Amino acid sequence: MIRSFVEGWGDIAAGIGDDAAVLEIPAGEKLVVSTDASVENVHFRRGDLSADEIGYRAAAAALSDLAAMASQPRGLLFALVLPAAWRGDASALANGVGRAARVAGCPVIGGNVSSGAELSITTTVLGVARSPLTRSGARVGDRVFVTGALGAAADAVDAWKHGRIPTPSSRGKFANPVPRIAEALWLARHGATAAIDISDGLAADARQLAQASFVKLTIEADAVPLGEGVTLEQALAGGDDYELLVTARELDASAFAKLFGIALTQIGMVSEASRRNEGELEVLHHGAQIPAPRGYDHLAVK
Ligand SMILES: [Mg+2]
Repeated sequence: MIRSFVEGWGDIAAGIGDDAAVLEIPAGEKLVVSTDASVENVHFRRGDLSADEIGYRAAAAALSDLAAMASQPRGLLFALVLPAAWRGDASALANGVGRAARVAGCPVIGGNVSSGAELSITTTVLGVARSPLTRSGARVGDRVFVTGALGAAADAVDAWKHGRIPTPSSRGKFANPVPRIAEALWLARHGATAAIDISDGLAADARQLAQASFVKLTIEADAVPLGEGVTLEQALAGGDDYELLVTARELDASAFAKLFGIALTQIGMVSEASRRNEGELEVLHHGAQIPAPRGYDHLAVK
């Protein structure tokens, strides 16, 4: 089955053929590795997305973790567990994986297919970086920025949960998130001190970054860029946008927007945490503190 996938992938999978893949790591660079599972009825439901979109989204989510580390993708491997009911969709799933790899400029270097009770796609990605960005580099006095607009993927999930059809823009953002690889490399070159990709929701991921950096992150809710038709709650709590949250002393947002065609928006500041060796998140709305949502449970399974 993998052989037929390789034909569909074309040049992005040109290196596949041996029992294992061999990668060259440039001298002075570090290997950055991440893995991510996408499971039916947890991360997606049949009928909401096409098989191609399910494959794409699974791989894009994994590649987004390389973006969060400002790492250049060098290889993607995936393990597909394929129930009998999905066998006819195998090549569409694989095509979606290949499409995400192509978007991120990442060769597909290996894959495995097994039968099983539930559809799952586990994607492992390898990248290289001279100085990977981490969550722990935010410094007092930094500003907090996000790429793009937030909340559209959560808006699509909310629509599905309530039996509605999502708007095309929200559905598109959920189905085809773009790993911000080139954007991350630019941000790292221009002074970003820490980064995380927004997979669990702005507030939850901002809290992660604050805790890793032992700082206080203050987010001005009024400044958060909202996707089309999205509520503030969806933007703060909703995951799956795969935009980047970064900290930096200063970044040229207009140069960024000109280069990448998406916004880079300052949404807050980094200050000293009230307790040593702890981090904290504060969300302000019209100047008053509001509760920060804890996180996001992806598609709730009833
Ligand atoms: Mg992540």
